Amino acid sequence: MFSRREWLLSSAAFSGAAGYQAGGRDIVIASSNGLSACQRAMDILRSGGDTLEAVVEGVTLVELDPGDMSVGYGGLPNEEGVVELDACVMHGPTRRAGSVASLRNIKTPARVAKLVMEQTDHIMLAGEGALRFAKAYGFQEENLLTERARLAWLVWKKSLRDNRGHNNWGPGLDAPDGKTSASLRDAFPEVDEATWAWASEVARRPPTGTINCLALNSKGEISGVTTTSGLAWKIPGRVGDSPIIGAGLYVDQDVGAAGSTGRGEENIRVAGAHTIVENMRHGMEPREACIDALKRVARNYNGNREKLAKFDLSFYALRKDGQYGGASLWSGRKFAVNTGTGSRHEDAAHLLERKN
Ligand code: ASP
Repeated sequence: MFSRREWLLSSAAFSGAAGYQAGGRDIVIASSNGLSACQRAMDILRSGGDTLEAVVEGVTLVELDPGDMSVGYGGLPNEEGVVELDACVMHGPTRRAGSVASLRNIKTPARVAKLVMEQTDHIMLAGEGALRFAKAYGFQEENLLTERARLAWLVWKKSLRDNRGHNNWGPGLDAPDGKTSASLRDAFPEVDEATWAWASEVARRPPTGTINCLALNSKGEISGVTTTSGLAWKIPGRVGDSPIIGAGLYVDQDVGAAGSTGRGEENIRVAGAHTIVENMRHGMEPREACIDALKRVARNYNGNREKLAKFDLSFYALRKDGQYGGASLWSGRKFAVNTGTGSRHEDAAHLLERKN
């Protein structure tokens, strides 16, 4: 269970000044990788664009950026080396939602999720059906696996061992010079040291990563989006929390919006985004509402620190009155905010203090 000090720390973390922007202003918040997305969304709000258009176009920048390896094009692939993307959207004013899961070969899943919302009588399309739907609307099929992501996947694939230390993805018994047990590093002579260090780290510890972005405009309208390539090396077909309405994202025009990044399996079990919006409906401030959802996550492991240390989960919340906040299971996280004067990072609250 948590020590008294941890509970005190976490309550101190969310009892401080919560992010607040008086009503009647445009506000965009996002996960920490969302500085550019927040700026783009803010520009769209400023030019009179709709809140959902704003957040979707904001995260599209990140989806198209091969440098962000947790979202869209360039995302780390599943265990077969195929990039599978999940995304969902919710539009407060019309109370509608759209979602795609396990979508392959399309760089911009958030735009596809928005089309599912606008152009179908369904809310969620998955796999092959989602791909066919995207193609029907003119999206081009493309290879989403960048060379950098392919390298990391191959390092992971070649690092797996049976109990004799063998891996079929390495030189066989008939290899010249008996090089069957050459080190993993030797298999990638052309890779520079920095890239190698990164690739072996992500092979060892499969990263998660996602972008969630929430926007409120001066009319009090609110929308949100979450998009991801999910967990690296996942089983094909694995769907995380990101495209699940109520887990990775929830918007209620009467109350506010919430979203998440981090280990989706834990979030699905507490329906995190919906829980947070309901907490705000019943009077909690955004950060407090996020911390409460994180307590439920911790409760699922009876507060066992060793188990909880194996993952992290972050929540973001934006209330209809302009108050906002973010909180993570573990300390040290930030989130992105734009209230009209450029994007910045703010500290997230936390439930547990990480000791190094
Ligand atoms: N939530 C995402 C998932 O579980 C990954 C992440 O945000 O890191 O698929």
